[in-house]
Order: sequence, then C-alpha cells, then structure tokens
Amino acid sequence: MPNKLLSKIPAINKILLLDRIKELINSYSEVAVKSAIKSYIENIKNKILNEELYEVPSLEKIVDEVEKIVEKEDENSLRRVINATGTILHTNLGRSLLSQKIKGNIESIAFNYSNLEFDIDNKKRGSRYVHLIDIIKKITGAEDVLVVNNNAAAVLLTLNTLVKDKEIVVSRGELVEIGGAFRIPEIIKLSGGIPIEVGTTNKTHLKDYENSINENTGALLKVHTSNYKILGFTKEVSNEEIAYLARENELVSINDLGSGQLVDFSKYGLPYEPTVKEVLDSGIDIVTFSGDKLLGGPQAGIIVGKKEYIDKMKKNQLTRALRVDKMTLAALEATLKLYLDEKVALEHIPTLHMISLSKERLFGKADVLKTKLSDLDFMITIEEDKAEVGGGSYPASSLESVVVKLEHKNLSSTEIERRLLEVEIPIITRIKDNSIILDMRTLRTREFDLVKNSLEKITK
Ligand SMILES: *Cc1c(COP(=O)(O)O)cnc(C)c1O
Repeated sequence: MPNKLLSKIPAINKILLLDRIKELINSYSEVAVKSAIKSYIENIKNKILNEELYEVPSLEKIVDEVEKIVEKEDENSLRRVINATGTILHTNLGRSLLSQKIKGNIESIAFNYSNLEFDIDNKKRGSRYVHLIDIIKKITGAEDVLVVNNNAAAVLLTLNTLVKDKEIVVSRGELVEIGGAFRIPEIIKLSGGIPIEVGTTNKTHLKDYENSINENTGALLKVHTSNYKILGFTKEVSNEEIAYLARENELVSINDLGSGQLVDFSKYGLPYEPTVKEVLDSGIDIVTFSGDKLLGGPQAGIIVGKKEYIDKMKKNQLTRALRVDKMTLAALEATLKLYLDEKVALEHIPTLHMISLSKERLFGKADVLKTKLSDLDFMITIEEDKAEVGGGSYPASSLESVVVKLEHKNLSSTEIERRLLEVEIPIITRIKDNSIILDMRTLRTREFDLVKNSLEKITK
C-alpha cells in the first residue's frame, strides 16, 4: 500500500519546527538544512514507491539522517588527503607541497594589498613579472624570466610569440604526450607554428636538424621525454649542438624541460639530468619548466632565457590570458629564495626533502610508526620497497624506499584500503602481497598520529 505510506511522511514545514532542526539551522544554514530534508524525503518516497521500504522512519531517525547529510554536504569538495603511496609528485594528489617556510609570504600577500603592479621607487605603474627577476638570475643565470599559469601555457606562449607561422623542428623521439591532452605536435599547431619532425624514434642526428632548415624555419625545439625513456640503440643531439646550430642559422633554440630541476639529484640515487642553469649555460635561448614538479613550488610555468625574447612575450596578448595570480608569485619567489642555500632547499622544500631522505632516515621513520601502531590489531612489518618521483620526471627510475606493511586479523587489505578512503582525512595507500603499504618517502612524520587514529577508528 505505498500510497497510504506516502501520506504518512511528515511535511517539511513540520520537520523544520523541530528543536534539533532549529539547532542545525543555527550551526549551518537554513538553505543547507532545507535542501538536506528535501533530499532525504525524496529518497524515502522513492524507496517506498520501489517497495524497498515498508514503513516511514520516525521523526528522530529523519533528523539523524538529515544531520548526517548536512554534515557531509558541508565538507569542501577539495580536501586534504594523506599520500602514503610513495609517489612524490602525484599528479592526482596535487603534485608538490609547498614549504612551511613560505607560509608567511603567501599570507602577507594574500591578505593585504601589495606592490604587485606598482613600482614603489618610481611611484608609477609596474609589472607583476619583475618580482622574480633578481632571484631567478641568481639561481639560473637567466637574463630574464616570465611566469605563466603552468608549463603547458609557457610552451604555448613561447612558440606563439617567437615562431608563429614558422617551422618548428623537433625530434621524432621527443613528440611527447603528457597526461590529459598535452601533445607536443598539437601545442605547436595551436601556437600557430608548423611542426617538422626529424630523425627517427630512437635516433636523431645533428644532420637531421641541419637538413630540415630552410628560410621558413623558426626554431629548434628540444622536449624532455618526461614520462618515457627510449633505451638501447639511441642518439639524441645535445643542447650545445642545438644551440650552436640555431645561432648559426639565426633561429631560436628552445628546450621544454618539463620538470626542470634547480639542483642535481644524482647524489640521491637518481640518474643525472642537467639543471636549468646548465641548460641555459649550454647556450639554449629559452627554457620552460613547471613550478610544481621538481622545483617544489606552486603550479606555474616558468620561462627563462634571453631578455629580447621574453620582452616580446610580455607584449603578447596571450600573456594576459595565461597570467599568474599574486599568490602564485608570492609562493614562487619565496620558494626560489630557499634555493640560495641548497641545504635549506633540501630540508625545507617537501619535494626535495622526500627525494633526498636517506635509507637510514626512512628506516628510522618506519620504526617510529611501527611502535606507534603496535597496540592496534595489525601484524606490522617493515621492509624495503621502491618509490617514485612521479609527475613526469625520471621515467623508468625508482627511488629506494622503506615501507610499513599492515595486515589485519579479520579484514582484507582491500577492505582496509576502502575504509581508509572514507575517514575524515582520506589516506591513499598501496596494496602489495595482500597487505596495506605505507611508504615512508611520502608519509610525513607529522601525519603518523592521524594515520594511527584512522586505523584505530576503521577497525574498532
Ligand atoms: C609536465 C610537462 C609539461 C606540462 O607542464 P604543466 O606544468 O603540467 O602544464 C610540458 N612539457 C613537459 C616536457 C612536461 O614534462
């Protein structure tokens, strides 16, 4: 008798008069509470009509459920999570974490007026792009710098400004696709350039570039193969050779470094890659890289190199469409300043810190966590494993890591994994050998208590 049941559902106006509902409205808002009541009532109606429910819930039960909905809906959609996966630059989890050291700089700019586009010395209009020039000169030796929204935008702006309607020569081995929809040939076309592919997938020689040059050529472009590696019988042309050939022919040489690191990570077990400074020193005119990959700063696309080219970019209308926000500039300037002392950068920029953690320190962290979790219902072991830099850097290389492995007496690891995603601060883990893996490279010591509390809660 669904119809009869339907008539027993209390009216929304009646529910709104309940004391607990009034309290909820005080703590949240009338709009939120009304919407929760409506959605819950709708839900009951459907269940009754589908014959999944044979009795109207009590008022008390209705209020309980409405309260749950209101609380759930009040959570922000974009939320903090804990990354225990071992992938440091995890694209889905927000790539780089900012350094705690730069909090003050961001706060001061975000919550106050600033000289963003005001030249205080000369009392006139200034440019938002001047703020990074001194610091970037110190770190990379670049003549000038321009920062845009992300590195994809940096490549687009560079090509559109310098080589629109011209041929852009790029090696077949470097026609990269990076996550989502960023493909080098497409970006070249979007910028108005004409992609000219030279060489083969595995080998490109200097003469391949040389032979492609004609009166319509505008630039020689190198692209970092961020997310793959061609192994075996390979040959690529060095930055020096590209830069020299471009200069001889009055072309622009460009290197899209992608990650673009400011320090050499080869001492931390990663293969050698040239730093931004080294690429500029090799004679390349323009280098582009991301702010939130290996640099460890905010999302941004950084363009460094010859002033005459960067001046042209500043005049391009696209710059306005791709421009960065003041908070990004504040975060980037403050992050770059930490690089003035490499030791400070390695200790205080989370991405660098995680990459450079020694195995002893990782074992130390694992011991602390194991002790902390020892009264829970888990079998805990510590073992060595592999972590990744991620974010399209160091493809095919991994970092040695140390993990804490958890096995529960009654619950399967997939069940634990699922429950850990439902706690207040979701914990992203890996499963290996039917165990939950907590990787010490990305799980931070300050998160250990949160992990313990959540594990306790989900197994109670
Ligand atoms: C990551 C990457 C990009 C895109 O950078 P975003 O900052 O994600 O826009 C472009 N080129 C290369 C080689 C990359 O690795």
